[in-house]
Amino acid sequence: MKSKRAQSAGLTDFFLFNTLTRTRERFAPQAKTATLYTCGPTVYATPHLGNWRTFVFDDLLRRFLSYRGYQLIQAMNLTDVDDKTIAGATAQKVSLAAFTDPFIKAFHDDRARLGIEDAEHYPRATEYIAEMARFAAELLERGFAYQTPDGSLYFSVKKFRAYGLLAHLEDQELRPTGRVKHDEYEKEEIADFALWKAWDKEDGDVFWPRDVQNQPASGWPASIPKGRPGWHIECSAMLRALFGASVDLHTGGVDNIFPHHQNEIAQSEALTGKPLAHSWLHVAHLTLNGEKMAKSKGNITTLEDVVKEGFDPLDVRYLLLSAHYRQPLDFTEDSLKAARGARASLRDAAQGLKIVSVSSEKGLIALQRVEQALLDDLNVPKALAVIHTFAKQVKADPTIGGGKEFFEALERIFGLGILEELMVPQKVKELVAKREEARTGGNFVRADELRQKVGELGFRIEDTPNGVRIFSN
Ligand SMILES: [Zn+2]
Repeated sequence: MKSKRAQSAGLTDFFLFNTLTRTRERFAPQAKTATLYTCGPTVYATPHLGNWRTFVFDDLLRRFLSYRGYQLIQAMNLTDVDDKTIAGATAQKVSLAAFTDPFIKAFHDDRARLGIEDAEHYPRATEYIAEMARFAAELLERGFAYQTPDGSLYFSVKKFRAYGLLAHLEDQELRPTGRVKHDEYEKEEIADFALWKAWDKEDGDVFWPRDVQNQPASGWPASIPKGRPGWHIECSAMLRALFGASVDLHTGGVDNIFPHHQNEIAQSEALTGKPLAHSWLHVAHLTLNGEKMAKSKGNITTLEDVVKEGFDPLDVRYLLLSAHYRQPLDFTEDSLKAARGARASLRDAAQGLKIVSVSSEKGLIALQRVEQALLDDLNVPKALAVIHTFAKQVKADPTIGGGKEFFEALERIFGLGILEELMVPQKVKELVAKREEARTGGNFVRADELRQKVGELGFRIEDTPNGVRIFSN
């Protein structure tokens, strides 16, 4: 909706903070359709809320671009072969696909519950192995990689002049000390990294090249031995297969900056000579009671954990969106309760709205302020301040002009389910009203029966200081 109104209000420029240049830059897609590549989940476990913070941010970016009238193609990869997935499959003595498939399904289920729109592509790494092999072979031919005695291919960091720019590595850090086979490593260990790992017994039956009959395939690059890709080349190869040399936006969590994104840049730009992404956006950590949430630390919370405690997934979405994406966000029970309250308050305002006025000015002015905040590097805290101020005005005057347009736009951009609850079926509303009657009349047995009936219809009732509220289950 790049309307004249928005343009006349000076709302045309969208600024985003680019990790590569460490500056706010005007978003300017290279073609009519903007492109976005998102590093998706490694499907060896159920994603925790720290992972979801990044994916919910991507969804906000996606929705806001669409709201502003951009066409967008987004790819989010699924890492279904790497050190962790192989270790998991080996431990359970099942095939790699049998191990990863349930996690892929769980990922999409939780994604839907969090209101995250479908990306255009969800490439699985195992579907692009041939592209990865060719990519590695090409880097070898061009002199950016070398082969070790077991046949593995490593990227030579010193051959790529711009290595370290994204991660802002200092010169003294840039003396690679050796080679690293593992997919993940620390900044202190600048090293040549694996593009293709020759098979060893820890890989079990996970290896390529295979043909459709699952037999060793012919026609693969001669330099590629039986083995598997390194993690970093997976994204470089999938991005290239789907988008060519470059995308407009590349996103991920701050953990991805080094080594993963730095290595993606090295591999891809060594080959193409073009910027892999024009803008790199990174989402800060989610902490749990002050500590970084990470599976390796054993302090993770999943969506299911909080849903079991009676929270709506969209309360979680609200919380994950509420801080600026470049600021750490602390997840606590109190912060989640506050998010639930804030979302309920918006819903109250939207539900109480009486549309009698034709003048829509007030809502539109508030909406422009929201847009203005988001155009400034997606400043959600600032946008939420405007939103809640307007919601208060709506509660004070439910006939306020432009309220409907305001909440509808909000729903498109933030996807918080504020309007959804308006669609409670009449039958449920009647049951809730009867239950209210029974309860205030002291007939608690009847009230409980009615509450159960509401539950059977897929809704649940909560008594709050502001009255009864209905949630969908
Ligand atoms: Zn990636």
